[in-house]
Amino acid sequence: MKHLLSIDDLARADIERVLDRAASFAEVAGREIKKVPALRGRTVVNLFYEASTRTSSSFELAAKRLSADLVSIRAATSSVTKGESLKDTITTLTAYDPAAIVIRSPHAGAAQLVAGWTDAAVVNAGDGKHEHPTQALLDVYTLRQRLGSLDGVKIWIVGDVLHSRVARSDILAFTRMGAQVTLSGPPTLIPRGIEALGCTVEPTLDRLPEADVVYVLRMQRERMEEAYVPSLREYAARYQINAERLQPHQLLMHPGPVNRGVELSGDAIDSPQALIAQQVEAGVVVRMAVLYELLAGANSRAPLSVNPNVESAVAA
Ligand code: ASP
Repeated sequence: MKHLLSIDDLARADIERVLDRAASFAEVAGREIKKVPALRGRTVVNLFYEASTRTSSSFELAAKRLSADLVSIRAATSSVTKGESLKDTITTLTAYDPAAIVIRSPHAGAAQLVAGWTDAAVVNAGDGKHEHPTQALLDVYTLRQRLGSLDGVKIWIVGDVLHSRVARSDILAFTRMGAQVTLSGPPTLIPRGIEALGCTVEPTLDRLPEADVVYVLRMQRERMEEAYVPSLREYAARYQINAERLQPHQLLMHPGPVNRGVELSGDAIDSPQALIAQQVEAGVVVRMAVLYELLAGANSRAPLSVNPNVESAVAA
């Protein structure tokens, strides 16, 4: 693996390898000193052109816990509106000889472009409505921890699929891991032809009780240029996941940030079925595993001369 741009580039075995590695890093996360020297002397640049709480902080922690040198840059979306200026930024950062560039951009395809401009490994931390592969990996990790395997598991993804890069990456990852994925939401928020990704669509929540896992998406109002639903109240009346709709056997997930009272009710968020906190926790170890895979894994561009495997790195 040279870059992580899309879940589509990963076979099931790749996903399993990264997540097994993440599980080994979970042991480090349980220690008082949560640090291994695996990426000592390597530089990781986090470049965030869009708002982020969980993804940026967990990539920072992941790089620090692997002992990498870290540069974090946050730019206002308005400062990069053309590919050319992004290219200039990458050229500037290349002077630091980064081993990895983690990029979040409001533009679909931005991470792919960056990969063509740098020798560093590039990680897509969310590109517009396109993909968010590390979110999908941490979601699979969270479900594997809980269920062991995703084979045959029925996962319903509910809400604003149209604007969701998480949905696209999750559909690819969940189906690759053997789950059956169903999408549900207002027809205006379900992209036409999305079934081609290997999922089915249900316009209502009538059959929701069949789901093993209910994965709720945020209404992405910042990406809506027109009214896709008559009102948020009406949306909530038809699609909000609340304690009444959530069955006791179902697990509940959400990538965050949650619009409390819109796509999820407070009682559902606080229910014992909610895995939202576990998803956040998984973010650090999964992103450690991704950075490790790209910078120190067997197929990385520049294998490490010290601590070539996580076992010795963990022991060090
Ligand atoms: N945090 C996720 C993302 O960046 C989901 C969301 O914003 O709704 O795509």
